Amino acid sequence: SDKVLEIRGLRVDYGVGAEAVHAVRDVDLTLHRGEVLGLAGESGSGKSTLAYGLTRLLPPPGVVSGGQVIYHPSDGPPVDVLTLSPGRLREFRWAETSIVFQGAMNSLNPVHRVSTQLLDVIRAHEPKSTAAGRLARARDLLRLVGIAADRLDSYPHQLSGGMRQRVMIAMALALEPQVVIMDEPTTALDVVMQRQILGQLAELRERLGFAVLFITHDLSLLVEFSDRIAIMYGGRIVEEAPAARLYAEPLHPYTEGLLHSFPALRGPRRELTGIPGSPPDLRAMPSGCAFHPRCPKAFDPCDERLPVLGAPGVDDPTRAVACWLHPAVAPLPR
Ligand code: ATP
Ligand code: SF4
Ligand code: MG
Repeated sequence: SDKVLEIRGLRVDYGVGAEAVHAVRDVDLTLHRGEVLGLAGESGSGKSTLAYGLTRLLPPPGVVSGGQVIYHPSDGPPVDVLTLSPGRLREFRWAETSIVFQGAMNSLNPVHRVSTQLLDVIRAHEPKSTAAGRLARARDLLRLVGIAADRLDSYPHQLSGGMRQRVMIAMALALEPQVVIMDEPTTALDVVMQRQILGQLAELRERLGFAVLFITHDLSLLVEFSDRIAIMYGGRIVEEAPAARLYAEPLHPYTEGLLHSFPALRGPRRELTGIPGSPPDLRAMPSGCAFHPRCPKAFDPCDERLPVLGAPGVDDPTRAVACWLHPAVAPLPR
């Protein structure tokens, strides 16, 4: 199969019962082998919650309340990540799917050299390796992400933010995972640096063949470096398409708004009009389409009926949208 990760009907809540905040609502998303899938949406749309949920790293009171996360190893039968034993889960997290989380570059231990931390990761998972072998591997990994071998003995504070982020990527790649999830901070890294890092990940994936789920609020970045893009709003995926198609012809009014919220890195400039209003309050979601109070194109069914995500019929089957302007006629092939 060319699918490596299939998220099906995933729901994530903060808290339980009547007080629960539904942060991820019935998300279906497929990551294919070797692709870069970008996930964009405003702050609070549930991007990080989705990433934490699917890797079972949710901080309390977060709970996965439904769905499946099917992982297809390169050999062997598929597994549901949500039902893995703690031992298998630990293995899965580094060796199959590794994660570089929002603010991760500040999670390097300040009192240990970069080399020590990288060597620890390798040793923990390859206990039979030799010290010389591990050191050679650590050097290779750093070279791979563009850090000179003489930096190996630096302490984290001696490196720039961008270099620390690249060290985190080197660690994430240490065990040759099939999937790398990268959750970019909204503020800590500037766009220039995000761009460098995403560019580098896309390049490394060409050489190493892993798939990337790259999360950012900056859609223009994804247009340049992703194969496909998914857009999240109020805990749901509202549009999904090949990057170039989404850019050339956004189908969801929210996607269109996002495209007018960030300066394009290439090509003709779009007017930066942004999106009026603010993201929905998850405790008091608007009825029908959650975007309707902000949507310039809202019409009759929008405040009453929730549009489902599906292929917009006449168009091609590689895209999906949840909007009454493009009613779904068929589910997206998985
Ligand atoms: P950003 O771009 O700012 O990183 P995001 O898309 O990653 O945003 P999440 O951090 O996943 O958004 O948050 C989704 C929603 O879940 C938000 O409305 C947030 O307020 C809520 N949320 C997050 N953590 C908690 C928590 N511990 N308890 C209650 N609600 C939470
Ligand atoms: Fe706008 Fe209606 Fe489409 Fe929602 S369903 S995005 S309100 S047109
Ligand atoms: Mg986030």
